[in-house]
Amino acid sequence: MNDALIIVGAGHAGGRAALTLRKEGYTGRLILIGDEPHLPYERPPLSKGLLQGTADLAGYSLCDRERLAELDIEHIAGNPVIRLEPQQHRLQLADGQWLPYAGLLLATGGRARRLPQEHANVLYLRTHDDALALRNALTPGTRLVVVGGGFIGLEVAATARGLGCEVTVLEAGPRLAARVLPPVISQALLALHREHGVDVRLNVALESIQADSVQLVDGQVLPCDLVVVGIGMQPSIELATAAGLEVGQGIRVDEYLRTSAANIYAAGDVCEFRLDGLYQRQETWRNAEAQGRHAALNLLGREVPFDAIPGFWSDQYDWGLLTVGVMSPSMVTRVLPGGGLLLFYLDPEQRLQGACGWATGNSVAKDIKLCERLISARIPLDVSSLADAELSLKTLLRG
Ligand SMILES: Cc1cc2nc3c(=O)[nH]c(=O)nc-3n(C[C@H](O)[C@H](O)[C@H](O)COP(=O)(O)OP(=O)(O)OC[C@H]3O[C@@H](n4cnc5c(N)ncnc54)[C@H](O)[C@@H]3O)c2cc1C
Repeated sequence: MNDALIIVGAGHAGGRAALTLRKEGYTGRLILIGDEPHLPYERPPLSKGLLQGTADLAGYSLCDRERLAELDIEHIAGNPVIRLEPQQHRLQLADGQWLPYAGLLLATGGRARRLPQEHANVLYLRTHDDALALRNALTPGTRLVVVGGGFIGLEVAATARGLGCEVTVLEAGPRLAARVLPPVISQALLALHREHGVDVRLNVALESIQADSVQLVDGQVLPCDLVVVGIGMQPSIELATAAGLEVGQGIRVDEYLRTSAANIYAAGDVCEFRLDGLYQRQETWRNAEAQGRHAALNLLGREVPFDAIPGFWSDQYDWGLLTVGVMSPSMVTRVLPGGGLLLFYLDPEQRLQGACGWATGNSVAKDIKLCERLISARIPLDVSSLADAELSLKTLLRG
């Protein structure tokens, strides 16, 4: 009993860690604890395919019930962990049960940041159940106000337009998705949404939400049927904080994804790790996938430092955004045929540190893959070659 490995949070990172532990030959007791009623699933389709009606939960679950049983992974659903006692190597579930562990992974992700105003017509989007509620509300002709011009808000706006809703996006800052994207891509996003008939308003502050309208601080009243709030997420750090683990903006880990407590690791959205010299969290599919796998290896004592290259994507209308690596002040722009962009970020030695692609469909994916290889290759690059859309990135890779 005492040798159990326990994973708290049966989301993407937690689910991936459980599957990896078995794949890597761990045969001991393995418990995956979640507070949602579902099997572990990936969240990107929640703002895209699920709302459009082209994807369902079974399609984006990490595995099915039969596979969990086959792998002897004990999945405790709908029963959150409410207390953690690192000194005693045990935790308590909401139903009162205590479970001892030999090794623990905290993959508790986060929840949607909420506005103080609660109304039946105000929806959030973090879970499958949130997405189902939103899908039912997005009927043709619905007047939707999206609060927040970040990725989730913009993806909901794009999907809602496709479903025939009238959409207004309210962004408090001067540009869209400013936290993670350069101004040139914010501009492109703004133009795309306006082209599709979305009323995007920048630099606006919300005063109040009523049952049938949203009021702005400048006095304007926007009549609406539905409000979707996408103003970021709050990492679920409470368990770790109460247990005395070191916590910053997330649960702080070292390069092995180890927290400040013995035999406790963290992974995914909740994990604060050093990247590019700074402690930060990554709220991306790619990070949940990589850290989930990685934490599993280190729970098995492999002691492998985590140094995966970060990245994310977003799909809006028929355009795709893909990033890899990290941004730097030194940026080179390549204009792609069809109006897309490929941005390269260089370090002081002219080596590629990050890239961002924006183009129709999935057309920039190949270039972003090559950029990832260029980042790993760490070779100095010629700025004019990078800017030249005629020149294949493969050539640069060959040196
Ligand atoms: C709508 C949406 C669209 C997205 N689209 C993209 C995209 O296009 N591209 C991209 O790169 N990323 C995207 N992401 C981000 C990506 O899905 C997340 O980064 C990823 O899901 C994080 O995985 P995680 O396992 O860390 O957290 P989660 O998937 O949130 O899983 C954490 C789980 O732990 C549970 N939990 C929390 N506390 C407890 C507790 N005390 N006890 C038990 N269980 C607990 C939570 O309920 C949850 O089920 C999107 C996210 C959302 C919400």
